[in-house]
Amino acid sequence: MSKPISPKVSKPKCAQCRRKPVAADYRPFCSKRCADIDLNKWLSDGYAIPGAPADMADDTPGQEMSEED
Ligand SMILES: [Zn+2]
Repeated sequence: MSKPISPKVSKPKCAQCRRKPVAADYRPFCSKRCADIDLNKWLSDGYAIPGAPADMADDTPGQEMSEED
């Protein structure tokens, strides 16, 4: 009567590539590389995802390069 242990619950997967197991040093990522990718994604623009539906047009100017004051 032992619980069935799924072999997939060993380690969480990298939040970025979702393929490699998370490394303790770079949680929740597998490596510094994936951590950097995610960081850059947020730094540049979280919504600037190619192919993403422009459904959420929330008219928020501010990401434009116009610096006229
Ligand atoms: Zn990764």
